[in-house]
Amino acid sequence: MSNADITVYGAHWCPDCRRSKQFLGEHQIPYNWVDIEEDPESEQFVIEKNDGKRIVPTIVFADETFLVEPTNAELAAKLGLRTKASRSHYDLIVLGGGPAGLTAALYTAREAIDTLVIERAAFGGQAAGTEKLDNMPGFPDGVAGIEFSQRLRQQVARFDAELLQAQEIAAIYQQDNYHCVRTTDGSEYSANALLIATGSRYKRLNVQGETDYLGAGVHFCATCDGPFYKGKRVAVIGGGNSATEESLLLTKFADQVTILVRKGEFSATAVIQEKVLSHPKIDVRWFTEVKEFIGKDSKLTQLRIVNNQMGTEENLKMDGAFIFIGLVPNTGFLEGSKILLDRWGFIVSGHAILHGDQRPIGFENRDPLLLETSVPGVFAAGDVRDTSTKQVVSAAGEGSTAALMVREYLKSI
Ligand code: NDP
Repeated sequence: MSNADITVYGAHWCPDCRRSKQFLGEHQIPYNWVDIEEDPESEQFVIEKNDGKRIVPTIVFADETFLVEPTNAELAAKLGLRTKASRSHYDLIVLGGGPAGLTAALYTAREAIDTLVIERAAFGGQAAGTEKLDNMPGFPDGVAGIEFSQRLRQQVARFDAELLQAQEIAAIYQQDNYHCVRTTDGSEYSANALLIATGSRYKRLNVQGETDYLGAGVHFCATCDGPFYKGKRVAVIGGGNSATEESLLLTKFADQVTILVRKGEFSATAVIQEKVLSHPKIDVRWFTEVKEFIGKDSKLTQLRIVNNQMGTEENLKMDGAFIFIGLVPNTGFLEGSKILLDRWGFIVSGHAILHGDQRPIGFENRDPLLLETSVPGVFAAGDVRDTSTKQVVSAAGEGSTAALMVREYLKSI
């Protein structure tokens, strides 16, 4: 058990417990997890708190108050997260509070461009979930992803950008000369310009059992969920930079990490490959694909795997599985908008939007600015953009470039 101020009393089969744990994880809020089915005293405690009823999750806070089966909004309110903006109109609304969005806001707010940032989860994006950023310029010993994110957020706050979190974007639309944003709680905000910096998320395998055991053995974040596998056996699926780096992180907790790679080689950088291949706690299975996640009592116990060269199937006993097979862009909310996307759903920007036969509406008499999308005044930066390099440093760089382009755009309207 960690020394966190929050304790989640739940059971491994309980979907609401998983949702609350995921919410806390996404907001990087440390918590203790107590499975009441493995601890009769805690079960009794929960029953007493709930007037004789055994309701999970029951979440107890540092001030000894508690919430029972809270919604994410109730949790956000209890944790003091700011989820509503103070006004309805801004010069710029930045969608997404990762390195790209926060850097853009830092630049614009510093130049007195009135800026609102809306973030779905916690600030820092995927970078915040990375144990260590080793290639960040200016940090000779590397920097923890969470520390970098917190520093960036503090820096942005110093320049008076308004920051919302735990607010998901439902849609964007244009009304007269304004760009409007609707969040899933029904709030609507407008701005003269928008910057989409919503990043990307981990892809799923889409095999049987994957959804059933989400958070109960199947995971996408080693930093968040790795500590639950102390002394256990875990599998990592994928052969890229994420799979290999996260496997190294998982060796800090698990006794054995088995990487399942569908090809006969990694696609990760050479230096990480070497570390992984020589690590005593890591073994690699090449040409191996997962067919099914199998469990007992709502907990993952086995992976059915197949060797795609031989066609042989077998069941591997595993306590947990971490999937790192690439990224999908967070652009679902752009469905029905006029923002041009590539075939994977990443946003097309700059001169690339002119490659079709017809110029997009609004670009009849001018070329798009750098990082401007097919809707004039809407920009994109970071991992959500089609040709981005998926690096924190580049995302921050694109954020600053987008901010300068937004400044140019705002001068012109
Ligand atoms: P990548 O796209 O780089 O790698 C995905 C891996 O998953 C590949 O090995 C791929 O195999 C495998 N894969 C894809 N689909 C499946 C499937 N259905 N079943 C089994 N395996 C599958 O994704 P990453 O998340 O590793 O990285 C995303 C981006 O972020 C990359 O640009 C990466 O370089 C970058 N990154 C950089 C880091 C750093 O610089 N420190 C750290 C982490 C990520 P196959 O080769 O067969 O397609």
